[in-house]
Amino acid sequence: MTRSHSLPPRLLGTRFRGFSLLPLAISFVLLVCLSLLALQLWMTLRAREVQLAEAGRESANLAQAVAQHAYDTIKEADTVLVGLVERMEADVASGTELERIHKLLVTRVAELPQLHGIFVYASDGSWLVNSQKTLLSHLNNSDREYFNYHRTHGDRGPYVGPPVRSKSTGDWVVTVSRRINLPDGSFGGVALATIDMNYFRQFYERFSIGEKGAIFIANGNGILLLRRPFDESMLGRDLSQFPLFHDYLPKGPVGTAVFRSRVDGVTRINSYRRISGYPLVVSAALSQDEVLAAWRLDTVMQHAVGGVLVLLIAFIGYRMVRQIELRVNSEAGLVEARNELELMNETLARLANQDGLTGLANRRHFDQSLLAEFSRAQREGSPLGLVLLDVDCFKQYNDLYGHVAGDECLRKIGKVVAYSMRRPGDLAARYGGEEMVILLPGTDLVGALAVAESVRQAVQSLGIDHRGNPPGVVTASVGVAAFVPAHLENQPVELIELADQALYEAKSSGRNQVRHASSRDSAGRIASLLAFR
Ligand code: GH3
Ligand code: MG
Ligand code: MG
Repeated sequence: MTRSHSLPPRLLGTRFRGFSLLPLAISFVLLVCLSLLALQLWMTLRAREVQLAEAGRESANLAQAVAQHAYDTIKEADTVLVGLVERMEADVASGTELERIHKLLVTRVAELPQLHGIFVYASDGSWLVNSQKTLLSHLNNSDREYFNYHRTHGDRGPYVGPPVRSKSTGDWVVTVSRRINLPDGSFGGVALATIDMNYFRQFYERFSIGEKGAIFIANGNGILLLRRPFDESMLGRDLSQFPLFHDYLPKGPVGTAVFRSRVDGVTRINSYRRISGYPLVVSAALSQDEVLAAWRLDTVMQHAVGGVLVLLIAFIGYRMVRQIELRVNSEAGLVEARNELELMNETLARLANQDGLTGLANRRHFDQSLLAEFSRAQREGSPLGLVLLDVDCFKQYNDLYGHVAGDECLRKIGKVVAYSMRRPGDLAARYGGEEMVILLPGTDLVGALAVAESVRQAVQSLGIDHRGNPPGVVTASVGVAAFVPAHLENQPVELIELADQALYEAKSSGRNQVRHASSRDSAGRIASLLAFR
């Protein structure tokens, strides 16, 4: 009887499930951790964007306020200049006329707090009239940049020049000027309004732009008029090659851009705008570092919490994976143990049904099979044959050759008996001692006798020496019985008794022969009485 050692489907399934579950669990934990990290990264970057956008809006509003202030301030001064230029051109200034204008200018400057002074210069730069109490006529402003500009440019619009120190007071001022023409259109002088730089400074100081924020105002050519933080050495500096003037303003008059300042190296969010109507540019800028300081702190906190969370999930995931691994291993162990047990049970069952010496079925197995086959033959009305074999003079064999040789002889005869089984339902068994039996379901007496005779001949053909047996070799006597058992009438034991009687006849008739049940067969089921020799 062979047994397949391949694993049963349930075990294969478990192993397979175990194999696929573990990588699945590991992938799941990794996926959760990575998703968390990705989500956090996305949220962090999004928060940064929001913060920068908000700062952009804030600086744009600031730039708008600064621009409006600059426009209003300069517009007021320029309105005075427009009137003044008209008057100077209409009426070639006479002494009394200049006196009237002087008074007017004094009043105007007193009315407008941002106005530092108003001046009119003749075409040679000499002081004609101004808003000061007493006219310092010995001074000459032909060296000023704005004077030179108007002398060489015919345009009649307002001009904002570089910041200058007032010749009359020594204060820093922003200049707004217009050209005065003579009736023939040639250069007749310059009307100038100076605006106190402190007026701008005080306004810029009001805004909270952090420690590294900056506000500045420059003229259209990129000459710096004023900057917060205030630095005197910066006044009048040419910014035209700086990123704002060089890269951004050419693209549009209003905008917001992030770049590193060439002045102090700070990266800022700059909002800038050209002021319409005047050649002026303003910019309000917030330090990116300062804007993002709160975001940075939040990010550190979030990452700390997120990191702890990921570590926790990784730890729990690791424990979970270990548990799964252990369970899979123990399940595999259990299945293996169960298989071994099944194997042992099968072996035990086989041993319990097998005769240890000959390897044939044992008596117990034979009894069970006889009962089962007898019932089946009764049900189906089919014949059941039985062949009972007994080794001749075996006691003597033992006496002559020893018990070990006797065992060996029985083993050989057992093989012969086993080979005599022809159908799957046939069963050869050791009936006891040196007696063996063959149960032949569905076999009538003729068939059973044929089997019996072939076994007898085969035993003899083994040619095992036996001095104590008249043929000189080991032989066996065989009794045969076969009939169709009638329902409720016959018992299994009858078949054995008939075969035993036949065997007795074979012995008493000289041994080494086959006999079948005699006329004592009460049921009369045996069709013919044939003797074999
Ligand atoms: P016969 O059947 O021809 O009348 O003579 P016999 O000598 O065979 O008769 P009997 O049945 O009295 O003797 C059977 C002998 O078989 C007795 C015993 O020593 C021997 N025997 C029974 N079982 C075994 C066994 O398992 N091994 C060995 N070696 N001998 C056995
Ligand atoms: Mg015997
Ligand atoms: Mg015997």
